This record gives sequence, C-alpha cells and structure tokens, in this order.
Amino acid sequence: MINPIQELLDDLHRRFQAVHEGEIASYIPELAHADRDSFGLAVATLDGHLYEAGDSSLPFTIQSVSKPFVYALALADRGPDAVLARVGVQPMGEAFNSITLESDTGRPLNPMVNAGAIVMSSLVAGVGFEAQFERILAGLSEFAGRSLDLDERVLASEQSTGDRNRAIAYLMRNAGSLSGDVEEVLSVYFRQCSIRVTTRDLAVMAATLANQGVNPLSGRAVVAPLEAGHTLIVMGTCGMYDYAGEWLFRVGWPAKSGVSGGIAAALPLQFGIGIFSPPLDRFGNSVRGIALCEELSARLGLHLLRPERRSAPVVYWSTRENGVLTLALQGGLGFAEAESVVRNVLADADSDSTRGVILDLNRVGHAQSIALSLLDALVRRLKERGIVTVVVDQLGRCLIDTTGYSCVTLDEALAWIRNELLARGGSH
Ligand code: GLN
Repeated sequence: MINPIQELLDDLHRRFQAVHEGEIASYIPELAHADRDSFGLAVATLDGHLYEAGDSSLPFTIQSVSKPFVYALALADRGPDAVLARVGVQPMGEAFNSITLESDTGRPLNPMVNAGAIVMSSLVAGVGFEAQFERILAGLSEFAGRSLDLDERVLASEQSTGDRNRAIAYLMRNAGSLSGDVEEVLSVYFRQCSIRVTTRDLAVMAATLANQGVNPLSGRAVVAPLEAGHTLIVMGTCGMYDYAGEWLFRVGWPAKSGVSGGIAAALPLQFGIGIFSPPLDRFGNSVRGIALCEELSARLGLHLLRPERRSAPVVYWSTRENGVLTLALQGGLGFAEAESVVRNVLADADSDSTRGVILDLNRVGHAQSIALSLLDALVRRLKERGIVTVVVDQLGRCLIDTTGYSCVTLDEALAWIRNELLARGGSH
C-alpha cells in the first residue's frame, strides 16, 4: 500500500519540478554545468527510515551546507567557549560572501557566512591543514553515515576563482581573527566545500543534528547533544543568509543552504530534510527548495515557533476519597504540564483533610527533566507536611525518586496507602 507521506513528497516534488525561476551559480565556473532540472528530495526519520523523491542519489558538492557540520565539529574539538571567542552567533542580514567583521573585535559575525566558516575550518582538530581536512572529511562522513569523497573539478574551479574568499581570509588575518597560513586554511575550506554528497546524505546529516548528534543510520554519536543543539540554533538564526528572517517567518526550521543548490533542514527530535535543485534566488538559496519547504512546513504544521498542539489534558482522571487524592497523568510531561499538576495538588493539599496523594504515571510518555524535578519538589513538600505520597509506574522508570514508595498498579498503591494511613493512626 502507498504510504501517504511518500505520496505527499512525490506530489510536492512533481509540483515544484514545474518551477523554473532562478539562476545557477556560475562564479565557481564548474558549478555552472549543473542541470537546472535536477531535483532531489529526501526525508530521514530518527529511526533511520528514508523517504526519497526525484534525484535523491545524484551527487553534487556540498558547498555552504558544510558550514553547520564543520561548526559542530569545531565545537566538539575546541569547546563552545573557545569557538565563541573566535566567531559570533549574530545574524547579519548580509550576503554569504560579505566582508563584514565585528568592528571592535574583528570576529566574523557568525559561522554560517564564509568569513566565520573559514575560521571554523582552521579550528577543527588536527596537526597541520592536511590532518584538519581529514578530520572534516571523516566527520562529515560520520554525519552522512557513509564515506564521502571530493569533487576535484569543482575544487580546482573554486581554488582558481576564490579571490573573494582569499580577500576575506587576509582581512581576517590582518584583524587578528584568523591565525595560521591563509592559503593552507583556505585549502581546507575550499576542499570542505567540494565534498560530494547526495540529497539523501543531506537528509541523514540533518537528521543527525535533529537526533542530538546521533546518526540515525549508524547509531553512532558524531557530536554531543549540546554541540548539535548549538549548531541548530545558529542554523536557525543565520543559516539562510540575508533571507534568514523571512525563512524563519515563513518556514520556521533550522536550515542551511549552499550555492550548488542544496538545503539541509533539521527539525529537532523529529527528522532531517535534504533538498537539491541548482537554480538559486538572489540570496543564493535554491528556489525550488525554498518553495517546497514553505509548503511542507505549512501543510504538515511544522513551524517550530507556531507549534500546533491538540493534546489531551495532563490529568486524565482524578479522584478524592477518604483524604486520598489520586491523579492519573498522561502524555508528555514538560514544564507547563508539571506546573499544572503541582498547582492543583498544592491547592488540594492546602485543605486540611488531605492525608495521602497518589500520582499515577503509567500513561506518561516522555518527561522532561524540569518536569520531573518539579514533581520531585512537590513530593518533598507533601512529605514535609506529613502527607503520604505514592508514585505508580509499571514501567519501573523511577521517574520521581524522593518518595520512597512506588508501586506498579493503582490498586496496589491504594491498598498500600490505606494501610499506611491506618498505621499512622485512624482512617476516615
Ligand atoms: N564555496 C562557496 C564559497 O565559498 C560556498 C558558498 C555557498 O555555498 N554559499 O563561495
């Protein structure tokens, strides 16, 4: 049977194939040979499934889509403080090849524009620039879950026409924000941009960031959750160059584009998307890619800052009998859910007759740590007031550990609390 998600992606692919606007980048002459009709789409889920449409296995050079992944590697190799000291996280509303540096420090504004990316290429671990490039190639291969290689023709083409990037690099060295041999650093940067990927690779690479740094195909941790998280944030604010604000407004995902026509977008804890279509708009972003993402975001309700939520109430059942308040919780527990549980239980406990509380977590799916520490604090407070509290959780997850009493079923909990209250003197 046809998977409706595959059907939707095929339909979007077919419809946006008919978009013919945009110009293929030619300032790197070799890129101009790309076929304007090539069009690949891939979505990688966090359990390792791939949906693909069109030319999803056609190779092309990664170009600027390498930037967030190299940023993640630099964060892993040097730590966030050292990286932040060298390159800011400030969106600039200027083109990708802008020569603007922070006036007082000489730092590039962010790692998603060429200036910042060149500094990142110089920061990844490795003794000597050859070793640094090996680190990048191996790291990006880990993100993709397969061995990537170089497109030597695009590399030669960019190397022979990359004077603007040379100018940026020399300016940065003059300003003190880039150290080392400029030609060597640039040779790492140019090679990083010439790494060959497919649309499918971009989807897996993005899914790895979305999956807190763990590649969903290989199961291997490429970077730590914090490093993946920082990278997503910078993609969110700076990934689409001088279109970044409008992109956030219309689409609402962390993403990165490149001049060969690639886009990698990552929805944290959901999935990764790869797109390839060479014709670009005036910002240097893939025309079909932008249009497709806009529609995908709207149709699937995926804008991260306009979350759509129709969840059932966190307390799905509650009762109060013989001084025992029982709350059965369900769904995911975040701060907001825990806040409402805490407030309701405290309001009830303030009426003097409450002697016991049962929290049934059997239907709770995931729980954020802030939610659990709020519930912990609640249980501790109840204890101080002499109110007996029992947590029910058949999954044995020990979500809340300050109680000392936990049971597997509600019946057990009721029986236990009845005995406990009797032992403490008198029931109602
Ligand atoms: N290699 C390209 C450059 O440095 C990358 C730019 C891009 O993809 N936006 O100009």
